[in-house]
Amino acid sequence: DKHPSSNQNLNGVSSVNKETKVNVPSEDDKIVIGFSMDTLAEDRWLRDRELFREAVEALGAEVKIFASKGDDALQILQAETLINEGIDILVIVPHNAESTAMIVKKAHSAGIKVLSYDRLVRNSEIDLYVSYDNEMVGELQANAITKQVPKGKYVYIGGAETDYNAHLFKKGVFNVLQPLIDKGDITIVYDQWTKDWFPENAYASMVEALKANNNEVNALISANDATAGGAIQALSEQGLAGKIPVAGQDADLAAAQRIVKGTQTMTVYKPLKELADLAAELAVKLAKGEEITVERMINNGKSEVPSILLSPIAVDLENIDDTIIADGFHSRQEVYEGK
Ligand code: BGC
Repeated sequence: DKHPSSNQNLNGVSSVNKETKVNVPSEDDKIVIGFSMDTLAEDRWLRDRELFREAVEALGAEVKIFASKGDDALQILQAETLINEGIDILVIVPHNAESTAMIVKKAHSAGIKVLSYDRLVRNSEIDLYVSYDNEMVGELQANAITKQVPKGKYVYIGGAETDYNAHLFKKGVFNVLQPLIDKGDITIVYDQWTKDWFPENAYASMVEALKANNNEVNALISANDATAGGAIQALSEQGLAGKIPVAGQDADLAAAQRIVKGTQTMTVYKPLKELADLAAELAVKLAKGEEITVERMINNGKSEVPSILLSPIAVDLENIDDTIIADGFHSRQEVYEGK
């Protein structure tokens, strides 16, 4: 087997790349990384793209980047192009968690390893997965909202069903809500995925949720800030923006501004530089055939994937200055004086 996915050592810590002699470039060869992205629609992905490029170049490697804008066939085609151009390692943000397994297969038969960036490729022998603790993202959201609304009617607007992260976010939310639902304190009055994470789809869902419940809704948890923005638009049309707590994710500038304005309660901040830096470092190591030690294995339906999960941070009005502004993720001026 040219692709041993990992080896467990005695400490239960697993190593990737042990005894792997695949496609190792010679010392003076510049390593070329293929980065296959999905959408660039949310603020974060533009940032990921630039941070990843910078990190790769700082390591003396090179990166070729494609984005497929939610088109599965295009993402496969772009990945094939990268593979055919002779990249040393493929880093992928899958649009469709399932269909991108085909890309992993193709890369492997060309002797190229694949790193899942932020989103997991399911049912494949992906070599490494680097992300945030996505279940924790949902838990942080639900903890923040249940603190304000311990009893009442909740709306959950999920992410794209094709993105495995959306399932993890939802799982985290319900880890917190389920005991309260069982007690009869909380009722879920609306629960819907959002096709392709589009804000307009989240807006339509929220319009429907409000209509079905005669506007009697006490809290909203939305899987990210873009969908929260769509849903808040629907709330605002009913004069309800700022009247019920809303959770989102990503620390988008628009969301940070809404937190200051009072129409969104919290967001979940993922300091993307640490993700991009780590992914770049590990991609170069994988390409060089170096050993990588991880402490966690995650089952993706087919294999145990060596994984590294970073910690997300809950952000509300109280700590916004000490987190996203202190980090320079957004400037104070943008957040407080932006429209
Ligand atoms: C990411 C989120 C992002 C969403 C939509 C998820 O997989 O983890 O940060 O908002 O995709 O692009």
